[in-house]
Amino acid sequence: MTAKKRWIAETLFDPEGFRMSYEVERVLYELQTKHQHLVLFQHKFFGKVLMLDGATQVTTKDEFVYHEMMTHVPIFAHGKAKEVLIVGGGDCGIAEEALKHKSIERVTQVEIDASVVEFAKEHFPEFTKPVLGNKRFDLIIDDGMKYVAKTERRFDVIIVDSTDPLGPGAILFSPKFYAACKRCMKPGAVMVTQNGVPILQTGELTTGISKFRKLFADGSCYVAAIPTYIGGHMAMGWATDNKALRQTPLKTIATRYQKAGSFKTKYWTPDIQRAAFALPRFIAELVDRAKG
Ligand code: SAM
Repeated sequence: MTAKKRWIAETLFDPEGFRMSYEVERVLYELQTKHQHLVLFQHKFFGKVLMLDGATQVTTKDEFVYHEMMTHVPIFAHGKAKEVLIVGGGDCGIAEEALKHKSIERVTQVEIDASVVEFAKEHFPEFTKPVLGNKRFDLIIDDGMKYVAKTERRFDVIIVDSTDPLGPGAILFSPKFYAACKRCMKPGAVMVTQNGVPILQTGELTTGISKFRKLFADGSCYVAAIPTYIGGHMAMGWATDNKALRQTPLKTIATRYQKAGSFKTKYWTPDIQRAAFALPRFIAELVDRAKG
């Protein structure tokens, strides 16, 4: 008699009465850390799947979409980034992408939960191997809010690779956090944030951009389609005082990509970067509703 397969549901959209479930091949790691519930399991199609507090974080099959779009878009828009800050980013997928830019002098990652990095060493070596030994990489285990409030470091790009606005991640969606990020951004710097799925998390997008617009000259978003972030387009928040960054011409992006060595990507391209800011009307309307 074969054991009944366990199903694990994404419970992020319970308030909307909407769930997606994974049939679990094998649980690889499950624990209630000091901060959140963490489960990592093997899935027959998506490979390894990491969930934190019932929300999908990363899967082997489609991690490249989110990691490439959260990293290369701000770095190629900025054009002269030397210092990158990642808030969250436990599995090191974002850091791995950022370090592909040889012109970047240092990537600082501030992750609250050491357990996430620990298990990533064993289960996501494709991310951690090129990162944890890299002399341009600094890992700090701390609350991102505390770090940006006190650090003396200044950054050209801030990538808020957080969980959703629940548990330890909630503070990373607050005006206080964004103001502290602005404090440690160099002139012309840009911040991007994990900003949810607009069709299901409409409030999160409009309020997030309103918070940006109270602090920055330009607050908006760009989109990407990530299969396991259910609900269609995912929005990435965009906040900067340099309005030109969002309009960086295709030719400039392509030239910068060439200078960076045209490293291999699976989703991001110079064209995709430009297209990502062309928002579907319903998302553009959510952005327009944001107040400054
Ligand atoms: N990179 C993954 C992906 O592809 O979506 C998921 C994001 S990553 C796992 C989210 C990280 O944010 C988690 O490791 C979590 O521990 C961390 N985190 C949550 N709240 C935080 C806080 N206040 N400060 C720093 N890190 C935090």
